[in-house]
Amino acid sequence: MASTVALIGRPNVGKSTLFNRLVGRRLAIVDERPGVTRDRREGEGRLFDLNFRVIDTAGLEEMAAESLEGRMRQQTERAVAEADAVLFLIDARAGVTPLDEHFANWLRRTGKPIVLVANKCEGAAADGGLLEAHALGFGEPVALSGEHGLGLDELHERLTPLLLVTEEQEQEDAADDSLQLAIVGRPNVGKSTLVNQLLGEERMLTGPEAGITRDSIAIPWSYKDRPIRLVDTAGLRRRAKVTDKLERLSAADTLRVVDFAQVVVLLLDAELGLEKQDLTIARRVVEEGRALVIGVNKWDACADRPAAMGAIRDRLERSFPQTRGIPVITLSALDGKGVDKLMQAVISAYEVWNRRVPTAALNRWLEEIVAAHPPPAPGGRRVRLKYITQARNRPPTFAVACSRPDALPDSYLRYLENALRQDFDLPGTPIRIHMRRSRNPYVEE
Ligand code: GDP
Repeated sequence: MASTVALIGRPNVGKSTLFNRLVGRRLAIVDERPGVTRDRREGEGRLFDLNFRVIDTAGLEEMAAESLEGRMRQQTERAVAEADAVLFLIDARAGVTPLDEHFANWLRRTGKPIVLVANKCEGAAADGGLLEAHALGFGEPVALSGEHGLGLDELHERLTPLLLVTEEQEQEDAADDSLQLAIVGRPNVGKSTLVNQLLGEERMLTGPEAGITRDSIAIPWSYKDRPIRLVDTAGLRRRAKVTDKLERLSAADTLRVVDFAQVVVLLLDAELGLEKQDLTIARRVVEEGRALVIGVNKWDACADRPAAMGAIRDRLERSFPQTRGIPVITLSALDGKGVDKLMQAVISAYEVWNRRVPTAALNRWLEEIVAAHPPPAPGGRRVRLKYITQARNRPPTFAVACSRPDALPDSYLRYLENALRQDFDLPGTPIRIHMRRSRNPYVEE
């Protein structure tokens, strides 16, 4: 399904003109039902390589003033609700009016990605309005002239990351809201014991269910009213019942399980700590963009607790310098101690993994972060980071418009990643950053 872009703004800012420019002759749907005021138009929009559905609320402007306000609100709300991205238009020649501010406040609360468009920018009369527009808090406004077709490059650059919502994401969103949890680890660390402890505690087990793949199963279960599926615990459950020590998940099975989970608990034996095999699994979890929680089991039987914990933390720090804040939870699957703490860590890892950061906040942040530590300027030309947006979650994935992605060193990416993690409270989760080249290198300052 195509993404949807809504054009929002007070009357006369130029929504229709922009709509016509985006849709051209491809106008598809006009609501012509009798008795319905034509207060909304839709069409198939195109902007260079982007195709999307456009909703325009411009027809509102033709309505009687007394009914305008209510309908405007209603139509605007509907259009925004359907949109993946909102183009918020102001008239740069008129400056920012109280009605614009009103729209801005409301739009901010919707949490939708907003691109502020300062329209009618074809002459010097627009300069003042363009400056005022910054104060609306949506980052750098796109200076546009819908009538003269100026600024479309910039608009394209800003829309591209917002319309990157992939099919994968849509599928995930459509899937049920249960948390898919896998418990993995070397033989004998206590996985079966933990599964028993978990399922036994809640007594919510409703029986195995058709699996995600033909030969895996997921156990629907709930922990404190939160739906959870234990992924691919077939072997574990059977073993837990009959204590058949021969049946084991192979390393390859384990890695496959990771692919179907959202949160992975890597269970360790406190005495044995984090070994090479464990690191292989942990690395895979992070690379696949899953949330990782480390459970240190058999804590009850651990002789030297500080030493055990110190060794695990050291190893993690060295092996995952990037992924700060992976939770490490000590527990005893045998007596149940720490199991609640483990599940709380699982749930909060899932929440972080799902988190969405509003575009406006990200762009204010980007300005500060770039000012504090500017990107390098190889050959005397500074690499510019123009705009950032969270293209998707699960895991948090950011797209940054950059003048020269190839000229940006890895160390700078790490700087951005660490700062994102810290400033937006994203501990432990994998973070992805995609640098996208600004479409037109000539628009650089
Ligand atoms: P799996 O191979 O990872 O599924 O491991 P099991 O659950 O079968 O456990 C292996 C052995 O460790 C069994 O003898 C368990 O009783 C024991 N075990 C599991 N969890 C704990 C624990 O928290 N403390 C202690 N002391 N022993 C445990």
